Amino acid sequence: MPIVYRLECSACGRGPGASGALAGYVTTDGGDRGVILPEGYVAVKLDSGVFEPLPHPLETSTLEKLGFTWVKAAREGRLFSVTFKICRKCGCLHEERQHRDLQAGCFAVMILGLITVAVLKFWEGSDWGLSLIAGFFMMLSAAASLGLFSWLRWRKQNAGLKLGCCSKCKATDFVTLPKAKGVALMCSHCQTENLHCTVAGIS
Ligand SMILES: [Zn+2]
Ligand SMILES: [Zn+2]
Repeated sequence: MPIVYRLECSACGRGPGASGALAGYVTTDGGDRGVILPEGYVAVKLDSGVFEPLPHPLETSTLEKLGFTWVKAAREGRLFSVTFKICRKCGCLHEERQHRDLQAGCFAVMILGLITVAVLKFWEGSDWGLSLIAGFFMMLSAAASLGLFSWLRWRKQNAGLKLGCCSKCKATDFVTLPKAKGVALMCSHCQTENLHCTVAGIS
C-alpha cells in the first residue's frame, strides 16, 4: 500500500505535469486538486525501449498483459524502480530510473529460514530457541546477500542512470516526494515558491 502525495501550488492551483499512464491513482482524502503521485513506481522496459509503468495494485496483471512474468522480466533486466524527483530551482518533475531485481526473493529467504530451523531441530536435535535464532540469522544473511547481489549486478548501470541535471534549468538539486513534505517548492507553472507536497492517502 504505497503512500500517495498531492502536489499543489497554493497560488495557481496546479501541480507539475506527470506522465498520463499514472493517472489511475486514487486518494483516500477525496480531493481532486493538484497532481496525485506515489513516491515512485515499478516499470518494465519493453523491446521498443518504452518504459511501461506497472501501477499499483495491478502490477502483476499489467505485466502479464505485456507478456512477462516477474521472474522473466527480472532475469532479462527489464525491471526498474522509478522515483519522482522535483527540481528545487524550477519545480520541474523528473523521473529517475534504477535497475532492480525481484523484491529480494522474500519467499526463498523465508523457506531457507524454515529449512535451517527444521534441520537444526529435527536433524541435529538442537533445542527450539537455538534453532529459531539460527533460522532467523540465516534469513537475515540470505536477504542481505540477495540485496548485495542485486546492488553489485546493477551498480555501474544504475550510476549511469542517476539523474544528472534538470533538463529545463540544468540545476542539480532535486528532492523526492517524502522529503518535499513541509517545504515550499518552486511551481513550474507560475514560478512562485508555492508548490506544496502533502500526503493524500494510500493507493
Ligand atoms: Zn503555481
Ligand atoms: Zn529545473
